[in-house]
Amino acid sequence: MISYSEFCKQHVDAVYVTEAASRSVPGRAAVDRAMAVWPGAVQSIQFRDAVPEHHRNQRTVVIDEVRGNPYGRCPGSNGHLCCNYHTVDLYIGCSIGCTYCIMNGYLNFAPLVVQADTEPVISAIRAAATAHPDRDLRVGSGEVGDSLLLDPVFRLNEEIIQGVADLPNVRYETKTKTDYVDHLLEIDPKGNAVIAFSLNPDPIVSADEGIAAVAADRLSAAARCVDAGYQVAFHFDPIIKTNAFPHDYQVLIEKLAEFPAGAIAWISMGTIRFPPSLKDAFVERPFAREEFVPTQDGKLRYLQPIRREIYSILRSALADATPAPVYMCMESLTLWRRVYGDRPEHLRELRGIFSPFSSGHSGPFRWRSS
Ligand code: SF4
Repeated sequence: MISYSEFCKQHVDAVYVTEAASRSVPGRAAVDRAMAVWPGAVQSIQFRDAVPEHHRNQRTVVIDEVRGNPYGRCPGSNGHLCCNYHTVDLYIGCSIGCTYCIMNGYLNFAPLVVQADTEPVISAIRAAATAHPDRDLRVGSGEVGDSLLLDPVFRLNEEIIQGVADLPNVRYETKTKTDYVDHLLEIDPKGNAVIAFSLNPDPIVSADEGIAAVAADRLSAAARCVDAGYQVAFHFDPIIKTNAFPHDYQVLIEKLAEFPAGAIAWISMGTIRFPPSLKDAFVERPFAREEFVPTQDGKLRYLQPIRREIYSILRSALADATPAPVYMCMESLTLWRRVYGDRPEHLRELRGIFSPFSSGHSGPFRWRSS
């Protein structure tokens, strides 16, 4: 991946700050940080939607106040087992440019939004964690944008890592396809923060993941995080079946054996899935020629026997490489039974991840099964 200073030069044309943000202390701090990187590019606008037409693209950054509730349960997926993840929105939008990016169908505003005030996020995490001191709360940024693409400038993850570091039952996770981690290394205290990397073999990275870092650079960034005292996580998501499957994935997975025992907090696997409306966006890609079927949440996935084969092969390779817990993301109970032999909360190594955690924000938890 290009250096961070090159990314800032080549991929950001304009920065706007809304009136609401410029009235707040965190908003003004974010403006100062933006001015230090993009001097002369920062302009004021009344509100987020007032970005001029010619800057309504992913080369524009908008610093704004927090809109709505920035903390909540991962929406999960109807008919698929949920891993009790909670999400926070810090950076909304992304310019990495993955061909399969599901956000292309969800977000109706192209510029990258920085919700500069982390206080509501920290308060919400603290309230949920202290209400359930006996449970582990996994919460992460990265649901609606890459967690670290703009973070070396705005440093919102640092505020959150430090703001929840004293809570023993909080695992705060940042997720990225970049190797822009160096600003996180000196943070003290780190608490139980987990720095997570999506992983795919390089032929997929170069064809389908835009300007993302190649796998070796992500693994090298993960190693730096471990050296600095973090646990790391890896997400094989989306897994794409190419002619080189499973070889390319097995080669990548073997590299995880280089991480010391205990350094990897968890690993997830998720085969490619997308709403039918998104298929037009990547209809030219070779992987789009595979057969996909509608599943219970309306998304298209590989046929179940293919998913089962993919997960079984990768699970076995991962078990050979690392003792870290490995789970499937957004999969049906049927598939859990076929790949793991049981539902995840019955498996000793996954019980901690899949035990229900009621946040108080979204009603009681219920298992959904297919
Ligand atoms: S890194 Fe994630 S959010 Fe960014 S373009 Fe790729 S899939 Fe979308």
